[in-house]
Amino acid sequence: MTAHSHCRIQQDDRGLPTGIAHACLPMEWPGPAEMPVMTRSCMLESTMVTREQPLTAGALRSAVERGLPRYPTVKDELRTNLIAKLQSGEPLFPGIIGYDDTVVPQLINALLSKHNFILLGLRGQAKTRILRSLVDLLDPAIPVVPGCEIHDDPLAPLCSACRARAGVEGDDLPVAWLAREERYVEKLATPDVTIADMLGDIDPIKAARSGLQLGDDLTMHYGLLPRANRGIFAINELPDLAGKIQVGLFNILQEGDVQIKGYPVRLRLDVMMAFTANPEDYTARGKIITPLKDRIGSEIRTHYAATRHQAMAITEQEAWTDRPSPAGAVQVPPYVREVVEEIAFQARAERRIDKRSGVSQRLPITAIENVASNAERRAIINRETPVAGMVDVHAALPSITGKFELEYEGELRGADNLARDLIRAAVANVFIGYFENADTRSVVEWFDAGGALQLEDSGPSARLLEDARQVPGLLELVPTAGVDRKAPGPARASAVTFILEGLYATKKISRSDDRGYHAAEASSPRRPRAAAEPSFEDVPQMPGGKKKYYN
Ligand SMILES: [Zn+2]
Repeated sequence: MTAHSHCRIQQDDRGLPTGIAHACLPMEWPGPAEMPVMTRSCMLESTMVTREQPLTAGALRSAVERGLPRYPTVKDELRTNLIAKLQSGEPLFPGIIGYDDTVVPQLINALLSKHNFILLGLRGQAKTRILRSLVDLLDPAIPVVPGCEIHDDPLAPLCSACRARAGVEGDDLPVAWLAREERYVEKLATPDVTIADMLGDIDPIKAARSGLQLGDDLTMHYGLLPRANRGIFAINELPDLAGKIQVGLFNILQEGDVQIKGYPVRLRLDVMMAFTANPEDYTARGKIITPLKDRIGSEIRTHYAATRHQAMAITEQEAWTDRPSPAGAVQVPPYVREVVEEIAFQARAERRIDKRSGVSQRLPITAIENVASNAERRAIINRETPVAGMVDVHAALPSITGKFELEYEGELRGADNLARDLIRAAVANVFIGYFENADTRSVVEWFDAGGALQLEDSGPSARLLEDARQVPGLLELVPTAGVDRKAPGPARASAVTFILEGLYATKKISRSDDRGYHAAEASSPRRPRAAAEPSFEDVPQMPGGKKKYYN
């Protein structure tokens, strides 16, 4: 008996196993009858068997005997494939950034524990993305009875129809292969979701015609959950689900049966359940029935990116800025990316914005797309290279205002004004990071001495640079923004807008609504601050009294 006989590994002519032999356990194996679960690593070695997709129940049975993996439950399948990925060091959740030390280990543990789990987090924290990535932990395809709505296993069918077919057709029962993508069902919970949507309904006409008892599964019209049998069923915003549906879910999870219209229906489903919820809704008393909560093995808290750097990586991955354009590739300088990202950080710390609903990562993602578009538009009009600058950040206002819920004070200020406040605070924060040690005095003094600069929203960069040349020392500051002194005009013009906007945001100079820059109104220390001025005059002291410089 070779070490691999339990999984019938293909061997080459020297008797060595083909494929990678990194983790196949060289120990006594009780044999396929007692231990039908194959480890994935063995399976990877036995490529011949796994590539085989038998098309009848008889052929399938024989393939299983020769080592085709077969799992008791979908949770075993997820666990086995997860272990194989951990062993091979393969990236587990590609594209999920910033969760390596927090969410990902907890998620792995939940899957290893074979738990149903819930992701608790505010909007835009990649919860849905995580759930969808679970699909990658399923086998590429599984054998099913063709036409069965609940994807019955041809070797162990659940529904009466398939059992009857298996009895009649025996080894000739046809087998179809269901791709893993088909095994993920997702539902957004809303208060109007019914038992019929979720679990199913009894069709009395079907029952009457076939002379069956109501409650027999043949009289069922299956809902989403039974259709997710042998797969993953994800419910977003679980607390929005009506109590009686939560009871139904619990009964299915716990007992494998449920009452529909008063008739007991037996459904021994094999489903991995994953949920998401807003933490406050989830913990609020009475929102989730206790027995269902008890059946959710792990609660995993998601969070927003902890650092601006991580957040920028997420935005860069998700946003569509690298686009084909007649104007050429849109360049978005790092300080513009930082400002856009910082707007979201400012919004999350802003007391006039509702903290319970959060500020999604979709804010910087859609904002940077609009920034790029505005730069593209300007470039096409002026026939120059598109380089994003501060004018483009302001032009992205329509993608910012809808991304947060306002508190009462925020409503008084209005979404547009609040968004402008956020941009200003973000610019101040990023500007300080770049220019803290730069000497901007000559520029500020020029404005204090009565100088004024009127910029155009969509004008060419050459004109902007020409205007900037009047201000002593302004163009000399361009390299401090990370832009080369000899860089093309559009890049230097972008840096100039960053410097001017930064000086305005840190209150060294003033600016009118139509981008006219002039001396700071508060430049004279004797002049008292207007009493009616909103509290945002605290820039760059950040909302909440917390200084949030570089993350
Ligand atoms: Zn069936």
